[in-house]
Amino acid sequence: MTVRVPAKVNLQLSVGPIRDDGYHDLVNVFHAVGLFDEVTAVPAGELTVAVETAPGSRVAVDGVPVDDDNLAARAARLVAARLGVEPNVALRIRKAIPVAGGMAGGSADAAAALLACARLWDSPDEPLLGRDDLMDLGADLGSDVPFALLGGTAVGVGRGEQLTPALARGTFHWVFATADGGLSTPAVYAECDRLREAQGERAPWPAVSEALMTALATGDAKALGAALTNDLQPAALLLRPSLRRTLTSGRDFGAIGALVSGSGPTCAFLTENAEHAGELAAVLSSAGVAESVVRTTGPAPGATVI
Ligand code: ATP
Repeated sequence: MTVRVPAKVNLQLSVGPIRDDGYHDLVNVFHAVGLFDEVTAVPAGELTVAVETAPGSRVAVDGVPVDDDNLAARAARLVAARLGVEPNVALRIRKAIPVAGGMAGGSADAAAALLACARLWDSPDEPLLGRDDLMDLGADLGSDVPFALLGGTAVGVGRGEQLTPALARGTFHWVFATADGGLSTPAVYAECDRLREAQGERAPWPAVSEALMTALATGDAKALGAALTNDLQPAALLLRPSLRRTLTSGRDFGAIGALVSGSGPTCAFLTENAEHAGELAAVLSSAGVAESVVRTTGPAPGATVI
């Protein structure tokens, strides 16, 4: 059973105050893009995980765990426990989503494993686990997992896991600039908290951007580019100062929107059309401001059996 699952970029990431449980209240506008990992689940004598770089991709996979720390393995165990079967499956993960890149690759693999294992073990005629059950299981694994099942464009509140699909028209053309080495999501949140404290700032209560919602609903790429925001960006730029040059280069070469993707260090550039995306990808590649440059479109569908 093979499932293809998309990466995400956050069109809006508003980080509110820290809650008593240690999480932040967020407004998170997720947008799935056409950069996919593939997870294949094959019945086996025990649970194993193998991780490789997808054909045609240059993603470095050395940092990805192949034991129970892999989110896909944890997803398989959850599905097995829920269905009352042994988690005996060989999971093969082909990665094209940058690792620790702010594009939720681990969460994507977890979502793919949930779907693949449910299809493998659940009854095809009377399934115990519907799409909503998988979304609930996903939320237990991580805040970004339910969105990887859903795909498209959606607004997440709470930790980001309470999702509402957003009305979005048309196709947007993106260029992603990956960086050498990842950034740890908890470290970026901690830096964001530290910065706010140092500046005596109280985190505002996060609210969905009207300008962003209108841009999505009308398919207006320029307006969308102007409405992109990421509260984690100042922290990511402090932890990885070289990203400033990457963002500036993208803007100088005509991107209509430029921001750090999630907790970074991948940078996302919105362009006007496919031709513009091709040109921007070429100049960013030759400018030497990124480890690799990937051109794609959004929104993309969520985890899909192929
Ligand atoms: P996010 O955008 O959700 O904050 P990210 O894209 O920055 O996440 P991931 O690629 O999801 O980061 O990986 C973060 C860490 O999670 C990795 O460094 C790795 O140790 C661990 N991890 C566990 N399972 C996986 C997986 N299947 N793929 C990638 N990383 C995984």
